[in-house]
Amino acid sequence: MKRLLPLARILCAITVLLLVDADLLAHGPAPGKVYVVLWFDTEDYILPESDDAAKRLAAFLTEQGIQATFKVVGEKARTLERRHRTDVIAALQKHAIGYHSNTHSQHPTPAEYESLLDWETGAAEFTRRERPGFDDVQRIFKQKPCCYGQPGSSWAPQAFPSLASWDVGLYLDEAEHVGLNGQPFYYGGLLNIFNTKEGPQLRPNGDWTNIEESKTKFRQFYQQMTSNGGGLISLYFHPCEFIHSQFWDMNFARGANPTREQWQIYPLRPPDSRERAFGYFEQLIRYMKSFPQVQFITGPQAMRLYADGAREHRFSASEIADVASQVESEVNFQVLGAYTLSPAEIMTLVAERMTAQPSADTGVVLPFTIYGPSLPSPQMTEAVEVTWSQFERSVYDLHGFIQHNHQIPNAVWLGSQNVPPEAFLVAMAKIARKGANGGAPPERVMVAPARLATEKYVAVDSLEIWSWPIFPPGFHSEHLLELARLQAWTLKPAKRSE
Ligand SMILES: [Zn+2]
Repeated sequence: MKRLLPLARILCAITVLLLVDADLLAHGPAPGKVYVVLWFDTEDYILPESDDAAKRLAAFLTEQGIQATFKVVGEKARTLERRHRTDVIAALQKHAIGYHSNTHSQHPTPAEYESLLDWETGAAEFTRRERPGFDDVQRIFKQKPCCYGQPGSSWAPQAFPSLASWDVGLYLDEAEHVGLNGQPFYYGGLLNIFNTKEGPQLRPNGDWTNIEESKTKFRQFYQQMTSNGGGLISLYFHPCEFIHSQFWDMNFARGANPTREQWQIYPLRPPDSRERAFGYFEQLIRYMKSFPQVQFITGPQAMRLYADGAREHRFSASEIADVASQVESEVNFQVLGAYTLSPAEIMTLVAERMTAQPSADTGVVLPFTIYGPSLPSPQMTEAVEVTWSQFERSVYDLHGFIQHNHQIPNAVWLGSQNVPPEAFLVAMAKIARKGANGGAPPERVMVAPARLATEKYVAVDSLEIWSWPIFPPGFHSEHLLELARLQAWTLKPAKRSE
């Protein structure tokens, strides 16, 4: 930018002010709210002073009138109990409690053991290994954990149906395996506040000296969000990182799995460094709280705010015809007024409608989560043409499969031929939208190759997305991401109710 003369600069500034004022007067939009989900991965069961750090953070927030979400590791909860830290437990109980795996970094971690398992055995194994810690957290904190998030980047798709079966409705964490442009989304039957953009930019640098930069960034996010209808910031810390010289779990780095007797206690940082860390946190919280549209929310409050409107809705025949008319050969989620639909939900609604009595219009509800296929689909290179009779029988077969398995099949059978479910959905939707207009079914039906567009929200396997110093060197898993892509059938945006 060229330097302007002083008078020109003043005139320029006045012009900008006038333009801003005129804009506000013309539109006068009510500023949107900025919801802040503040959460703590409470995991260090080695360094005793990390207990006090958790207590200090919880007490500070209580004093500020703010509720956060403490995601507690099972072994951490048991350790607090063994150390008789009822004071720490009581301080954390004033906040929402989440779950952060049973033993966190002891091997095998979730992605390690899940990497050799399929969809069903993986879900069962997640429950076998992780449920005991969940129960311990619930017993010790007298609160059912509201959410889960993986240790490090040890993410696995088989965790989702397990968590849903434990009645956990929220996946709260940061990593890159799946994401919807930084926005909250539904995936695997859970609300996901995951892979967000703003919170990670408000984190401390190595020596906690960037508070002014973080305040500036927060102010920018606040301005963007309030002028765009509001938004959500997901911000995390670890109580241990305020005081330690290195993470407690470097004991398990690069695949190491020492016995309990061999665990090393790493030293605390010097007192001034620890105080700088708490100072960073307290200043940032006070600063965020000073903005009028900021509201701190817990995991359960986020679930109410982003409750899935489709689950309460009764879909009429004409609504399903509208949904069907929006299905394209790139099969995507749909955003419709008060609710959103995943590809699996769209397929279920269309199959329900096509198998309902023509006269019946009591509406269709989505009473359960419909997961994606367990196995990859067959390749399809060219269109298949079948009789209406065959196609109709296949619709009934598909409907029965969804009702029985709560899942999309990996193939739909047209007699002896099979096609991928997305191809069948596109063909079915074409008929469902015509059927709503009272037309007779076609004599023959063409099923053409299609694509599941939501797969693009699942990461491609790389060393980077699995980067966590705890993994054995070179760990990655194409298999887990292939299973994750199959569950892209469940993906859709989460809409805020206010
Ligand atoms: Zn962790």
